[in-house]
Amino acid sequence: MADQTPKWVYSFGGGAADGSAADKDRLGGKGAHLAEMSRIELNVPAGFTISTDVCAAYYEQGRSLPEELKPMVDEALEKMAAIAGAHFGDVEHPLLVSVRSGARASMPGMMDTVLNLGLNDKTVEGLARRTGDRRFAYDTYRRFIQMYADVVLGLDHGLFEDILENYKALKGFELDPQLQAENWVEIIGAYKALVAKEFGMPFPQDLREQLWGAISAVFGSWQNARAIAYRRLHDIPDDWGTAVTVQTMVFGNKGDQSATGVVFTRNPSTGENALFGEYLLNAQGEDVVAGLRTPQPLTEKQSAANGNGKASLEALMPEAFAELKASCAALEKHFRDLQDIEFTIEEGKLFMLQTRSGKRSTQAALKIAVDMAEEGIISKQEAVASLDPARLDQLLHPTLDPNAEMTVLAKGLPASPGAASGEIVFDADEAVHMKAQGHTVILARIETSPEDVQGMHAAVGVITTRGGMTSHAAVVARGMGRPCVAGAAAAHIDLERETLEAGGAVMHKGDIVTIDGSSGKLIKGRVTMRQPDLSPDFATLMEWADGFRRMDVRANADTPADARHARDFGAEGIGLCRTEHMFFQENRIVAMREMILAETKESRRAALAELLPAQRQDFIELFEIMAGQPVTIRLFDPPLHEFLPSEEDAIVDVAEAMGVGVAQLKRRIAVLSEFNPMLGQRGARLLVTYPEIVDMQARAVFEAAIEAGAELHDRVRPEIMVPLVATKRELDIVKERILVTARAVEEERGTSLAFQVGSMVELPRACLMAGEIAESAEFFSFGTNDLTQTTFGLSRDDAGRFLGEYADKGIINHDPFMTLDAAVGELMEIGVTRARAVRPDLKIGICGEHGGDPQTIVFCEKIGLSYVSCSPYRVPVARLAAAQAALKSQL
Ligand code: PEP
Ligand code: MG
Repeated sequence: MADQTPKWVYSFGGGAADGSAADKDRLGGKGAHLAEMSRIELNVPAGFTISTDVCAAYYEQGRSLPEELKPMVDEALEKMAAIAGAHFGDVEHPLLVSVRSGARASMPGMMDTVLNLGLNDKTVEGLARRTGDRRFAYDTYRRFIQMYADVVLGLDHGLFEDILENYKALKGFELDPQLQAENWVEIIGAYKALVAKEFGMPFPQDLREQLWGAISAVFGSWQNARAIAYRRLHDIPDDWGTAVTVQTMVFGNKGDQSATGVVFTRNPSTGENALFGEYLLNAQGEDVVAGLRTPQPLTEKQSAANGNGKASLEALMPEAFAELKASCAALEKHFRDLQDIEFTIEEGKLFMLQTRSGKRSTQAALKIAVDMAEEGIISKQEAVASLDPARLDQLLHPTLDPNAEMTVLAKGLPASPGAASGEIVFDADEAVHMKAQGHTVILARIETSPEDVQGMHAAVGVITTRGGMTSHAAVVARGMGRPCVAGAAAAHIDLERETLEAGGAVMHKGDIVTIDGSSGKLIKGRVTMRQPDLSPDFATLMEWADGFRRMDVRANADTPADARHARDFGAEGIGLCRTEHMFFQENRIVAMREMILAETKESRRAALAELLPAQRQDFIELFEIMAGQPVTIRLFDPPLHEFLPSEEDAIVDVAEAMGVGVAQLKRRIAVLSEFNPMLGQRGARLLVTYPEIVDMQARAVFEAAIEAGAELHDRVRPEIMVPLVATKRELDIVKERILVTARAVEEERGTSLAFQVGSMVELPRACLMAGEIAESAEFFSFGTNDLTQTTFGLSRDDAGRFLGEYADKGIINHDPFMTLDAAVGELMEIGVTRARAVRPDLKIGICGEHGGDPQTIVFCEKIGLSYVSCSPYRVPVARLAAAQAALKSQL
């Protein structure tokens, strides 16, 4: 029955469409957007899309197309013919089509395409008569044979290139346009002979057979190796499948009023609100994407900036350009995002071939989000939600120090911003391999193809010697956030010898180079780098984000320098000051070691007395820098192995300072050495057994609070945090010492103190006993580093050795020390619930590394934490992620 037949084929064109942008799952991004463009009456060549359901059926039936599809395609071909005014297989007026892939998520260049389908020995004559251009018709036919043989019949396209090159050399031609129809006829003869020889059958003359072959091949390309690799890299499920779009061909290669190109509605590198694109005169679309011919700038503005004298489309074809500009504006408004558009101009008439959300640099993403919100195209909430917080990291990364000395070897296009230095390599697999061995590499290629994607990912930067701003290298690197210099034509790469020659130097594999994707420079050696100035857009977006955020964002900062950074990045306090880190410096570590190694209470007190002034001074600075914002000071938590001296020199220094013999000190070190320092006498255990440490640290905090308070004319209210608490009793013992010191200081100074004593929650036991611990703790902070370590029973110091293999074997799907594991999360949730049952308003934060991880932050929002705390450079990431998490929770 007709109404039970699934809808597999969706027509579009002539200002109407069966599908729409909402049908991405069925029609793929390309098909859905073509339908939408048709609906808003842009000039789209008519066609139809075969849905992803057919892709599933194709694989279910052992890679063959279902019979029921045929009448649906025939019907759609008829509709298409009516709009195009040409018929598939009609000798007098043949319809030519393209057959393209298109999945739900964009997978640029990963699957196959066949262009110019519909030609055989008869229809090519019809095309010649119809267009009055035999040369064009036969050139098109030979392009088709070559592409079809490659994609559908599986013959190497290099074989065809060889025939063409040999023919040109033999006849004395230099460029393709010099060849006449007769020449193409001869080449086609040679092509067909090649197919017959290699494939064992003549080139198919039956157009339906061609069409089915191409549709099958495109569905088949969903499972080719590079598409599979790309899906792995981008977490695209295998079962999504691709749709196939069959569309009327339009020709950008019909002379000097024809062109084909790519346009972004705004500049994808800088975000500037001006059209940005490239085109090739008298060419087909694939020529632009492949980067084999150097494209020309689209606009006059670009042309002036490039200064290479190449004419812009704006100047050459003002009418078509004006229409393109209007279409771009309509599309951007309609889709409410930056669009990346493919177009063709056939004898002066503009056709829109594709539109999709454009990939962009982080800088551009930021500017576009802010501009579009200010232009009223999107809301501020949408602007905040549109930015991937993890990518903000790039804005905070170094750029070249403009005053640095540098030897510029070559200049190319600034294809993706940021600078990077590393060892140059010339092969993608080699890049992957070297990265795995701990090298930092720059991948240098003549041009990249989808096979290079994993190598690009492994590299810190990419440089190519060919191709434009929309070449594969440029688009992919920008999406990945890798710096990229494209088309550095003055550099010569010899892939055999693995060298790059430029500016009179020869760089061999392994030599250090620097690339600057913001200026397009390739530089010899390493260059000093600088922190970027953050644009005003950054501040604007952050301000909007802060308005939507519920959780506070604090920073983990141990030194005044960290605290300044934290404040500059917008931290709202310090969530963790690891006080033992204040003694890492060479001039302080000896005193710290004396304290740890002291054999008696008296000698420990003496060593602590030496530490006190430095400690107090640091706290004064921290309080002053944070000026009234909360500062959480964690009492000593030194895993002993990090502080016990091991080198002979260090042992001698400490022995001298302590006035003991080296042999005696070594015995003491042996006594204190632990088999497993991470699970040893750290944190609360150290503080309970050496309570004089608490006395000193509490005194330093309180005295500093009084001094800084006087300076700031405001009361400083420190939060003192006890690490590695497993039982309420441990906390109580330490807290009591703190309170005794507080009373002593209050008495000495004749003033009153305001402070809180809280607990880190970083052991499974503490999570389970959170209700009890909360009776004594005035705040909680989850130490998810230790909580992960102890939940998994996995040493923080040793896990790196085997976690990589665990990921490869699918035992874990992310590093649990970076993104919170679900079980660790569940323990936190238990902790929050039990603690708040006792103290409903308990302030609870997180200060493990996970506090700066966007995915973890979403979870923290869900379980109602009060704040997240992370390293200063991740504060902006956390601010944005926390805002997005809050917005998400309101949905
Ligand atoms: C933690 O364990 O998560 C934590 C913040 O403390 P540290 O990393 O110092 O052990
Ligand atoms: Mg810890």
